[in-house]
Amino acid sequence: MKVYLDNAATTPIDFEVLEVMTEALKLNYGNPSSIHSVGRIARNAIETSRKKIAHILRASTSEIFFTSSATESNNMAIHCSIRDLGIKRVISSPTEHPCILNTLKAAQEYHGVKIEFVSVDGNGNIDYEQLEQLLADSQLKTMVSIMHGNNEIGTVSDLERISKLCEEHKALFHCDTVQTLGKYDIDLSKTNISFLSGSGHKMYGPKGIGIIYVNNNNLIQSLIRGGGQERNMRSGTENVYGIMGFARAFEKLYEKREEFLKHTGELRTYFKAQLSSSGLDIVYNGNQESNFLPHIINLSIPVSDKTDLIMFNLDIHGICASAGSACSSGVEHESPVLAAINAPMNRKAIRFSLSHGTTKEEIDYTVQKLKEIV
Ligand code: PLP
Repeated sequence: MKVYLDNAATTPIDFEVLEVMTEALKLNYGNPSSIHSVGRIARNAIETSRKKIAHILRASTSEIFFTSSATESNNMAIHCSIRDLGIKRVISSPTEHPCILNTLKAAQEYHGVKIEFVSVDGNGNIDYEQLEQLLADSQLKTMVSIMHGNNEIGTVSDLERISKLCEEHKALFHCDTVQTLGKYDIDLSKTNISFLSGSGHKMYGPKGIGIIYVNNNNLIQSLIRGGGQERNMRSGTENVYGIMGFARAFEKLYEKREEFLKHTGELRTYFKAQLSSSGLDIVYNGNQESNFLPHIINLSIPVSDKTDLIMFNLDIHGICASAGSACSSGVEHESPVLAAINAPMNRKAIRFSLSHGTTKEEIDYTVQKLKEIV
């Protein structure tokens, strides 16, 4: 049996999205910058896709740009706001994705930008009062970079609250929404967000395509220079079928978001109930009562000679899960997120992440194998 429970690392592609993309690959081959009819068809497909995305986010089409990945979008938001908007300080959290943490490190090293981290509690919730204090404490032009849903432990931050704090203190707000885009209703007309990032392959869309929302008030220039595509904001010939795939995947997931949250929420409860009656010694990482992504279950079991090779053994039984943040590398290393929440060192963490296609049978099989291995 093959059980894919690593949907936070990447999702399988939705076949309807694949169809849109293969059709485009076959027929819509024009260069969108060409002014002839074939080029214009490709341009049209891009602009229609942009419109769909802007509509869902209640943004203007002029605020949406296509990139190669959320990693690129996050790099762009941080580097360009420092370079072009005079940002001198970034407040972030220790539980951010490596593409934020490593970019901040580089910004500090190369541009002398001050980086400050808000504390997180044992479930990864940021300290909002400390954030307010930090914002009030300095006259330096500041950007807050805090993610919406955590990719490892599923903790969800309060976008409205952070956005209000940023507004009150005239700080910019950059938000990595990779794990929540399409699953949550993010209304940019009501939320004061300066930059937002998203990735196609976390939404049942293709890999190698991302978006960045750049609020019209923040006039940054491009990170990648060249032929001036994307209205001079991101050069490089556009990934037409990727863009079309992104838009269709986003649209589809957004339409079914309530079903997605309900299904994964019910399965999560079922999974936890089965684990509880299995007699396994389990501790959960991240919020369990509220403010969590239902599809991400991060649990830990006591370290022993049997759990040493647990990921390998699960894999032998056809179960795909993740030990830490799987999208960084295939190598197991200590997760900075688990370190930040002080997860016990004598336990081994496993992240199972569900999809709308996950079944109870797959959960039963996983619990049974987990019990056998441990
Ligand atoms: N941000 C978060 C929260 C993620 O989970 C990931 C990937 O796992 C990324 C950013 C990077 O996205 P991409 O694979 O599009 O570069």
